Amino acid sequence: MNLKNYIRDIQGFPKKEIVFKDITPLLLDPQATQKCLEELVNAVKDLQITTVIGVESRGFFFGTLLAQQLNVGFVPVRKPKKLPYETISATYALEYGTDSLEIHIDAIKKGDRVLIHDDVLATGGTAAAVCELVERLGGIVVQCNFLMELSFLNGRDKIKNYDTFAVLTY
Ligand code: 5GP
Repeated sequence: MNLKNYIRDIQGFPKKEIVFKDITPLLLDPQATQKCLEELVNAVKDLQITTVIGVESRGFFFGTLLAQQLNVGFVPVRKPKKLPYETISATYALEYGTDSLEIHIDAIKKGDRVLIHDDVLATGGTAAAVCELVERLGGIVVQCNFLMELSFLNGRDKIKNYDTFAVLTY
């Protein structure tokens, strides 16, 4: 099974010059989803992960599946003002302006071994901001993993101090 057959290119979304990788065909297919999950689990199964973070919003799909499969807790990292309890936030640069991500202050404990999951590694700004949140709460970032990596955007440079894994590379 070639998993790239389940990723659809959408020209001009969300902006004219962008070709967006759409994962919804993958999510529609249980066998393809299972294969992807197995590859993500295999990449971390010996790393004593204690917590999985999923990044809003497409990181939630496989993030929760991964946490269940590894039998550990799931933590959502969300856009500003979405989380109800007390949070800390990290701000990162976008092409124009900045954006922020938040996490509950009690979601990660000192020494927790954290897997950060998101659907796509593009420029790496998002993942770097999540690493910062984990470390500010005393956690250890054991791996950042992704369904796919857009390698031409060099996102790995921003998270070069961390183990990084992607199921698919473009
Ligand atoms: P970065 O911060 O690495 O530039 O962007 C990564 C974030 O943007 C991820 O949360 C990801 O969901 C989203 N993203 C950027 N490009 C794409 C894309 O082509 N397809 C999908 N599904 N998400 C993308």
